[in-house]
This record gives sequence, structure tokens and C-alpha cells, in this order.
Amino acid sequence: MITVGSVDIGGTKIAVGAVREDGAILARHECKTEPEKGFHNAMQRIIEMLRAISAEGLQFKGIGVGCPGPLSPTTGVIEEVGTLPSWQGGNLLVELEAGMNLPVVVENDADAAALGEARWGSDASDGTFIYVTISTGIGGGILFGGHLYRGVDGAHPEIGHQVLDDSGRPCYCGARGCWESLASGPAMTRWMREQQPDAPNATASEICEAAKLGDVLAIRCVEREGYYIGLGLANLITIFAPDKIALGGGIMKSGPLFMDIARQVIRDICTQVPSKKTRIASASLGQDSVLLGAAQAWLLRHKR
Ligand SMILES: [Zn+2]
Repeated sequence: MITVGSVDIGGTKIAVGAVREDGAILARHECKTEPEKGFHNAMQRIIEMLRAISAEGLQFKGIGVGCPGPLSPTTGVIEEVGTLPSWQGGNLLVELEAGMNLPVVVENDADAAALGEARWGSDASDGTFIYVTISTGIGGGILFGGHLYRGVDGAHPEIGHQVLDDSGRPCYCGARGCWESLASGPAMTRWMREQQPDAPNATASEICEAAKLGDVLAIRCVEREGYYIGLGLANLITIFAPDKIALGGGIMKSGPLFMDIARQVIRDICTQVPSKKTRIASASLGQDSVLLGAAQAWLLRHKR
């Protein structure tokens, strides 16, 4: 069986692994991202970790990489990425192909996670599949028949910046009241602060814990979160009528708090498509979704 070297680049840590084509992770190394040390330094550390895994006796056919976007999956060039500020213009394909002497495939990390969940998640889906991650930001990937949907010039669609309330607060994307500005973890923190300006900032997970204990304001915050999660999902369901949506990210660890309300919103407004047939489930690969998905990205482009 083929084994692929896999790289998951995040804002705080980089994971490198060996993934067999049946989805088994055979080895895994990690280091801090330390983006301030620069792009070239990080690439050298990735190459060293991949070589260390090779030295353990695992032979790679190629390397798959998942990295926060915007980036080009065609050229491998990183654009202006908020969590990797000094990496703009760095070329993942050129650096890693030169360092490893192997073919490299690069994907946006949310697209990679979508590929991983669709292929190796529980209740995997070959149909129209949407992966959504809700944490510090909101993003995701859209698959048709196991293949990524790409926009013009390979562009990654940014489902987290769909506008849900144009009287909402401004987002860095230029819109007001986009999904991310209303339903990300920081949006929950901000809403609580607006209600209780003198209270210390509460993280999304602290708010969820307080809601479970019956805190009235935290329950309102959670209900509001469920409503906006539902509204964003409802738009995706009305537009794509997907077979399945998988929900991941830190906020969804408290998914049971939100999903009854979200499902009610979907029932109420997705009346023009067979929305009851869309399966909505938790993502199941956890922290391995990008590592597995980056390997799947490589396999899709190179296997026959
Ligand atoms: Zn936005």
C-alpha cells in the first residue's frame, strides 16, 4: 500500500505524519509553528521531521500539505494569511519538492479537512458533502462526488463570510454581519461582553459550561449561537441541497447545546429543498482531519 507524507500547518503548531492509503496514521511528529521565525525556517523543520519519519523505515510516494489560506493549490504560493503574517509569498510546492525530491500537493486546510472527513470520517460520503469548522473563525470545504469544488482560478469558497445580517458588526472581510462575525467563538465572547461590560471576558467554552449550569445569560448566548449556526447551515442547504454536512471545530465540541435550535431553523426555512434528507453530523476525525485530508489530497491527484 502507498504511504504519503502529510503536513498540517496551523497557526500554533505543525503536525507531520505518515499516512497509509487506507487512512492509517503510521507516524506523527509535531513542532510549534513559530511563524515569526519565517517561512524558510518552518519549511526546514518540516523537511527534517519528514526525513526523520523516512529514517524510521517508511517510504513516501509524495507529500500532501494542508495550510491556512488564502493560498494557491496550483502554484503553492501563500498569500496574506492572518496567522502566518511573515509567510506571504512563500512557495510550499517549490520548497518541499526541492527538500524531499518528491511530488507535493498543497490544499487549503479547510478543504483538506473536508477531504479527510469525506473519505475517512464516520458515515463517509461520496455524494455532495460539506465540511464546516466553527472555532476562532468559520470555514469549510465543499465536495461533489469526493472531489473538491473550486472556484475561479482554483479559488477556495469562503462559506464563513456569507452575510447573514447586514446590519451586523463589520468583519475584516469587508462585510457586515457575516457568519464568522456572528457565530465564531470570539463572537460569543463579544456578545457576552456587550451584555456584561464589567464582567471578565469569557471564552466560548466557558460560556457553554455556564449555560450547562443554568446561567441565564449564557443560555441566551448559546441560543443565539444555535440560531446563527442554523441560519448559516440553512443557506448552505438551500443552495447545495447536500447529502451530508459534517461539523467540526472547537465550538462544535459543545454541539448538543446548539443543534436543536439550529435544526429548527433549518426545518423552518429550508422548505424549497428536501432538507430532511440532508444528514447533519459531527465531524469525527478531530485533530487528525487536516493530516489525513492532506494525504487524501495527494492520493486523489496521483492515484491513476
Ligand atoms: Zn467576514
